[in-house]
Amino acid sequence: MPIREADISVRGNTAYDGAGVKLQRIFGHAEASRFDPFLLLDAFGSDDPNDYLPGFPMHPHRGMETVTYLIEGSVRHGDSLGNGGTIGPGDLQWMNAGSGIIHEEMPIRSPHGVHGLQLWVNLPKREKMRDPAYRGVTAGEVPIVPTGSGSVRVLAGEWGGARGPIIGVARAPVYLDVELDADAAISFEAPRDRTAFFYILRGTVGTGSDAAGAHGAGVCILLGHGDEASFLAGPEGARFVFVHAPPIGEPIAWGGPIVMNTREELELAFRELEDGSFIK
Ligand code: FE
Repeated sequence: MPIREADISVRGNTAYDGAGVKLQRIFGHAEASRFDPFLLLDAFGSDDPNDYLPGFPMHPHRGMETVTYLIEGSVRHGDSLGNGGTIGPGDLQWMNAGSGIIHEEMPIRSPHGVHGLQLWVNLPKREKMRDPAYRGVTAGEVPIVPTGSGSVRVLAGEWGGARGPIIGVARAPVYLDVELDADAAISFEAPRDRTAFFYILRGTVGTGSDAAGAHGAGVCILLGHGDEASFLAGPEGARFVFVHAPPIGEPIAWGGPIVMNTREELELAFRELEDGSFIK
């Protein structure tokens, strides 16, 4: 089984989104074709309330899905389907925007700040105008599989006999949160027809045949072709997320929170937002 090697390494840029939330956009527009079906990865993380309290007031989405993983802090949310509540450390949200949803995500002042990841996953053309859906998952629903030298939280997909609670994402991603002790190694099956990347939350991680060439926290690496991904933690141990899913291979027409296949579909979405016919 050929081992996947590091292909592209990205650190992203500081960006301000929503009403002025400071975040790190790890990848986005410029990399979306290489990361297909993944469109964007935001890492929000700050101990300074000024960075996160502005939040993401009511805004629309269409044609994509988001998986939000809150690692620390709490976020209040509400949407046009009538969902609402507050999520806390380790909780997850899956939102399928489908034909249209309007929602808000408002971080709450928290003693250890607000830290998490938001991953956008594209929808194939035939599912972009489906009914929107939302699902909240609490930390307690996430299986934690001990590995002997660490642990794996299975957020989505299956691993180690456990099945993640995030189900129904169109591209059926495998999404794992991996913690490794110092100098521990682990490998995962990652079939060659799937796009695979990892993002380092803490410590250093080497991958593939260059396991010693460790990458640090905040780095995201797209893996090249192969069937298996292998990781080696540095002397301080490591925590990273490892994600893979099959690409869609369709054209992307992307305007802010709306991701369609053609410019015409994008223009229609923005016209519908103006004339009030966006929500189906
Ligand atoms: Fe949003």
